[in-house]
Amino acid sequence: MTHTPDSAESAPVSFRGEVTVELVKHSAADSDVLWAARVSTAGEQSLEELQKDPERSKGLINFLMRDRHGSPFEHNSMTFFISAPIFVFREFMRHRVGWSYNEESGRYRQLEPVFYVPGASRKLVQQGRPGKYEFVEGTPAQHELTSRAMEDSYRQAYAAYQEMLAAGVAREVARAVLPVGLYSSMYATCNARSLMHFLGLRTQHEQAKVPSFPQREIEMVGEQMEAHWARLMPLTYAAFNANGRIAP
Ligand SMILES: Cc1cc2nc3c(=O)[nH]c(=O)nc-3n(C[C@H](O)[C@H](O)[C@H](O)COP(=O)(O)OP(=O)(O)OC[C@H]3O[C@@H](n4cnc5c(N)ncnc54)[C@H](O)[C@@H]3O)c2cc1C
Repeated sequence: MTHTPDSAESAPVSFRGEVTVELVKHSAADSDVLWAARVSTAGEQSLEELQKDPERSKGLINFLMRDRHGSPFEHNSMTFFISAPIFVFREFMRHRVGWSYNEESGRYRQLEPVFYVPGASRKLVQQGRPGKYEFVEGTPAQHELTSRAMEDSYRQAYAAYQEMLAAGVAREVARAVLPVGLYSSMYATCNARSLMHFLGLRTQHEQAKVPSFPQREIEMVGEQMEAHWARLMPLTYAAFNANGRIAP
């Protein structure tokens, strides 16, 4: 959902309810895992040799995943361009190992007025206790209130930001009034092992042996990364699911 308020008096603010993830660069295939693992027993092998027995390849990848031999899953790389609210990036950047990040700057450029408002399918009401939350549908009135409160607040915050910029206040100072619902963008580069660790924590899945309770918005990012990765490394992806979605 993307819409821009049509009132001429409104600040030129737009609202989104989704996140986007683009796979911009990759060097990632199941054969990278086989190549790294087989050096243990067979030395260097050609791609042809690696791929000549698919059943054996599948078995080896499954064995590595099951017994948590993790390092062969590190010899690959995926770079994603992610557009999501700042509160998602705050959570995302807690993932320190096997990740590289570069995010747009609020010091060197004026931040665009694009803000997060939950879409109609976002469950709004939290029930349960910490560590065991469940989210249920909001009522139409709760959705209406959430959209209205957020949009009013975003417009006011962005107007204050613009007023300060117009008065000559530095971008790095003026940005303090902008809320964490503001969209940002970043490149995030990882490998299959670090992505699996991320997905184990930031997605919910019926095959997960250890349940996690991620915030829906970072899960939306995770789901899109997962779909890209599944296409690149189908055997590794299948083994991850078959072994309870625990990173090796
Ligand atoms: C549902 C959920 C709720 C959360 N709630 C909160 C919260 O309320 N407050 C909060 O602050 N954070 C919270 N977090 C963030 C969480 O604590 C982790 O920081 C985040 O999930 C990254 O996990 P990680 O440290 O395993 O990943 P990475 O930083 O990528 O590390 C990967 C692995 O490397 C090893 N490692 C990394 N650094 C060290 C180290 N310094 N010492 C020893 N081993 C290390 C560990 O084995 C770790 O699992 C939450 C995360 C989730 C998924």
